[in-house]
Amino acid sequence: MVYIFLDIDGVLIKEGTISEENYTVLDQKCLTIFEMTLRPYQNYYKIVISSAWREIFDLDFIKSKFSKDIAQNIVGVTPFLESYADVKFYHYQEILQYLEDHNLNNIKWIAIDDIKEHYPPVIRNYLINTNCDQGFRFVDATKLIDLLRKLNNLD
Ligand SMILES: [Mg+2]
Repeated sequence: MVYIFLDIDGVLIKEGTISEENYTVLDQKCLTIFEMTLRPYQNYYKIVISSAWREIFDLDFIKSKFSKDIAQNIVGVTPFLESYADVKFYHYQEILQYLEDHNLNNIKWIAIDDIKEHYPPVIRNYLINTNCDQGFRFVDATKLIDLLRKLNNLD
């Protein structure tokens, strides 16, 4: 089992296409590639939302943006830290807090995010760093498959 910490803006929505009317509309192509990639691995991953969306929307709303089978594997959102003063790599710190809160300290995890500076260099092998203008693409899908297979010992 691998936990996937998923950012949304710059991953499933291309930066520059976001407007006030459509800011909750996921990019259909990015979403299709993402879901196609995961679908053969339904028993091997869970998704936790690490996006700022969790500040605005509840989990059910976020899940409604995904296909039903993929949404079933979305299990939560990362927590907010008690303090952000002097916090470096804050998406990473929120992930560590989630893992601790859920007693998942030995779980394998990866992150998908368009901003690599949210993560310390030492873990960036496990970060799929999307291009914010293009979102999740086939090159990202290839890396996601590699990581899912490797971390689940499927090869
Ligand atoms: Mg982002």
